[in-house]
Amino acid sequence: MRRLAILGSTGSIGVSTLEIVSEHPHRFQVVALTAGRNLALLEEQIGRFSPIMVAVPDQENARLLEQRIGSNGPQVLYGTKGLMACAAESPAEMVVSAIVGAAGLEPTLCAIEAGRHIALANKETLVIAGELVMAAVAKSGCKLFPVDSEHSAIYQSLEGHRKRDVRRLILTASGGPFRNWSIDDLCGVTPKDALAHPNWTMGRKITIDSATMMNKGLEVIEAHWLFNLPVDKIAVHIHPESIVHSMVEYVDGAVMAQLGIPDMKTPIAYALSYPERLPLDLPPLDLCRLGKLHFSAPDRKCFPCLDLAYQAIRRGGTTPAVLNAANEISVDAFLQEKIGFLDIPRVISMVMEGHSCTAVDGLDKVLVADSWARQMAVSVIDDIQGASYA
Ligand code: NAD
Ligand code: MG
Repeated sequence: MRRLAILGSTGSIGVSTLEIVSEHPHRFQVVALTAGRNLALLEEQIGRFSPIMVAVPDQENARLLEQRIGSNGPQVLYGTKGLMACAAESPAEMVVSAIVGAAGLEPTLCAIEAGRHIALANKETLVIAGELVMAAVAKSGCKLFPVDSEHSAIYQSLEGHRKRDVRRLILTASGGPFRNWSIDDLCGVTPKDALAHPNWTMGRKITIDSATMMNKGLEVIEAHWLFNLPVDKIAVHIHPESIVHSMVEYVDGAVMAQLGIPDMKTPIAYALSYPERLPLDLPPLDLCRLGKLHFSAPDRKCFPCLDLAYQAIRRGGTTPAVLNAANEISVDAFLQEKIGFLDIPRVISMVMEGHSCTAVDGLDKVLVADSWARQMAVSVIDDIQGASYA
């Protein structure tokens, strides 16, 4: 029986994780859950999984939740302290890090420092503070399992091989809803268009990141830290069917890949039960019915976010944190229809240009850069909006 804390239990990854727990009730016990504002779903999850503690964003939501669940429920905590307690003070052996965005960094780091094993969905944690996080993992001796499907595929394709025999990693990308679109077509994209991902059902932020291809850029940075390889050895192939989840090419030309239908339950379950494989109630991959799989190079002109991410990790230091923060603000502004789709890379690029990069020798450096980039992005967005009204 493995004890789990799930940070972000009401999100897409959180819900899939709990489905796996329900399918394997003798394998997992849920001891802590945390959620944003979806109290109704959190209440339902508390009823089904009986955690010992839960955390919500603020005191008001904690009070509302307590009223809903009555006095026999779990301990209800709130704010950053609540998240930290669920991550590091609950009796969890493994923490599923499934909050979206930079908000996931501190609780994940704190779980690592407390020696909890991590199933990492929150890629932003590694993008913002990869150096610190990997050093903390090495120090605490915990295991960090990737949940992101590409990184899980690479992890699986590396098993049984010598790391020094790797020539390069090949991350696959579906290309999102706008694959093969021209810049002119992309000008008029609305949030509704961008939220319609062809292969995956995910949270809103990562769905927009997939449409801009920033998601793949963030994943290149994530792979760099997870597998300790320079980004020059990490390539991206467009693969619209999302069946080959990623590949490892070895020095002798052999390429190992992991395939499967696009369902996050497979990589989540692998992280939860490594080295075992849990039987899952998913349709099998039917390659004969599919017939063909396609691969092509990404269109770097129409989707400049990919190269912005490569630039950020090459500059290093605080730059990836700045890229990530500017992206979070821009995605939010796009979803609120304050800026257009093509403004997202424009804003990020302008914020990156204005940043004086410093070395990351502590969490404070990262947090200062993150907050600077958010302010700067808001101001660039105000200018863009001002110009469009003028
Ligand atoms: P989501 O938006 O569906 O869920 C996010 C969860 O985090 C929710 O429970 C929400 O309430 C909580 N949350 C949001 N902001 C918070 C805050 N400030 N403080 C505390 N809790 C907060 O997102 P998702 O699609 O499940 O993605 C979660 C993470 O996993 C992201 O980092 C994403 O990049 C990564 N990921 C997701 C998928 C996927 O298929 N959904 C695949 C690979 C990686
Ligand atoms: Mg992914």
